[in-house]
Amino acid sequence: MPQVSLRACKTCLMLTEADKCPRCGTPTTRDWQGYLIVVDHTKSEIAKMNGRNENGRYALRVR
Ligand SMILES: [Zn+2]
Repeated sequence: MPQVSLRACKTCLMLTEADKCPRCGTPTTRDWQGYLIVVDHTKSEIAKMNGRNENGRYALRVR
C-alpha cells in the first residue's frame, strides 16, 4: 500500500503530498488507485505505454 498522505494529480497523475500538482498546478485528489514508479523513463516500456516522459511516481487511475 502506498502512503495514505500521497495525493494524485487529476491531469498528469503525478503523485505528490501537496494540494496542487508541482508540475502542472492541477488540484490533487486522494481518490486514486494503483502505483507506478518510473525510474528511467527512457528505458521503461510501462512509462511509454502510459505516456510518461518524466521520472517520478504516478497513480494508475484517478477518479
Ligand atoms: Zn499534474
